[in-house]
Amino acid sequence: MAKKFNQPLRMCISCRQRDTQNKLLRLQCENSQLSLFRGTGRSFYLCEFCLKDQKKVLKALMRQCKSNEKDKFSNILKEIITDDRKS
Ligand SMILES: [Zn+2]
Repeated sequence: MAKKFNQPLRMCISCRQRDTQNKLLRLQCENSQLSLFRGTGRSFYLCEFCLKDQKKVLKALMRQCKSNEKDKFSNILKEIITDDRKS
């Protein structure tokens, strides 16, 4: 018998741990541009533990977005995290 969850589980792209959707940060990649998920398109998730280890996260993100622009991604990621904590 499959176990029943109240909320769907999503997987963090960096550490591959599963958690409920509301605990993960949902991001998307459009034309190799990283941003918070805006409601359409492909999305992926990052957990709060991985967000503290940006070096590790960047690798996973660049793989997802098929990009090599590490510095750009690093800046965008910082902005996203700061924005997310404000709201
Ligand atoms: Zn993670």
